[in-house]
Amino acid sequence: MEKTDNKEMKSRRNRTGPYPMEKLKRVDIPTTKITDGVARFDERQHGFARVMRGELGAVPQKEMMRFIGKYPLGAAFTQAMAGLAGIKAGEPARTKAPIPEDPVLLSQHIKQLGYFLRADIMGICRLPQYAVYSHDMMGREINLEHKNAIVIVVDQDYDTMLGSTGDDWISGSQSFIGYSNAALISGIMADYIRRLGYPARAHNATGYQVVVPPLLLLAGIGEMSRAGIVVNPFLGARFKAAVVTTDLPLEPDKPVDFGLQKFCEKCLKCAVECHSGAIAKGGKVMYNGYETWHFDAGQCSKFRTSNPHGSSCGRCIKVCPWNKPPGWTHNTARWMIKNTPFMDSFLVKMDNLRGYGKQDDLFKWWFDLEEIDGELKVPQKKGSVSF
Ligand code: SF4
Ligand code: SF4
Repeated sequence: MEKTDNKEMKSRRNRTGPYPMEKLKRVDIPTTKITDGVARFDERQHGFARVMRGELGAVPQKEMMRFIGKYPLGAAFTQAMAGLAGIKAGEPARTKAPIPEDPVLLSQHIKQLGYFLRADIMGICRLPQYAVYSHDMMGREINLEHKNAIVIVVDQDYDTMLGSTGDDWISGSQSFIGYSNAALISGIMADYIRRLGYPARAHNATGYQVVVPPLLLLAGIGEMSRAGIVVNPFLGARFKAAVVTTDLPLEPDKPVDFGLQKFCEKCLKCAVECHSGAIAKGGKVMYNGYETWHFDAGQCSKFRTSNPHGSSCGRCIKVCPWNKPPGWTHNTARWMIKNTPFMDSFLVKMDNLRGYGKQDDLFKWWFDLEEIDGELKVPQKKGSVSF
């Protein structure tokens, strides 16, 4: 399998970000139909909140507090994340900085700041009220009136994903490399905007007040997939995102269309490979005002917390055919999906024949370890599991 090493990506990183997002087809509305009937979501209804309350069984409830920290690198990430919680919110400076209030110029400035801070993709959209949680995990009502949302995307590392099964001991830490870097970038960015004299709040894994997937669609980061996660054509779903909401004047981006809706109809790879049965194999349904594939967040959260042979899970992300490095062969496949959708089934077959989605031991750099009663032990079993 190919490693990520691309000269063009390196040369454009600080100007426009490493990926050629400007080449994607832009559309006026997301490819997932969003009706007027979307109700604001209560964070207490999330899968992990249900696990915590014991609604999904005693084992996931018990494992909830250790499923990331039982792996030593995961424990190190969660410790570091706690330190980032303090820079999410605050009051803006009393006077505005002497900078032009030009939304186009400020959008370019904010995106370049994101790339300087090592974001992989940046996007901007207006903040619709349906993307603001009605209540947080503690049951507190949320009022957030900021006009704009800045979306910050961080890769979970392609090469590590090559060496992983997607549901082994590094899985939780792969999520947390994305979460922690996105939390740092969003925290610094929100603080910077407040110092310029504009209100701003960071939303990241230390505490979100916004629902991220619709913002990923509106800001043109990707399209909603069968796996219930947003897929980007260059990263697949191998990323985590943070958001900065603000009243800084900004120019919104447009949603993208790279052919994912038709492709996911033909490709069931994530649904076949998921151990929990969370991903539907059928067609789209209406859910809370969105027309998309049914995704059972409860089953997914249950598996991720109680996975006995690893820390969390990202197997759907690992096996998705969009989880690919840059390069002309994959760029040709991307072009075909957009322009010759009748070839989609053939491309899925080729993906399987070439062995994509399998673990490659050459890329496995970490130790398999599990913390039990304060001691690190070598786990008894490894590899893929049944649930
Ligand atoms: S994270 Fe794992 S359990 Fe959840 S949907 Fe993906 S493959 Fe299934
Ligand atoms: S694995 Fe296939 S069906 Fe699942 S999200 Fe990726 S492209 Fe869509």
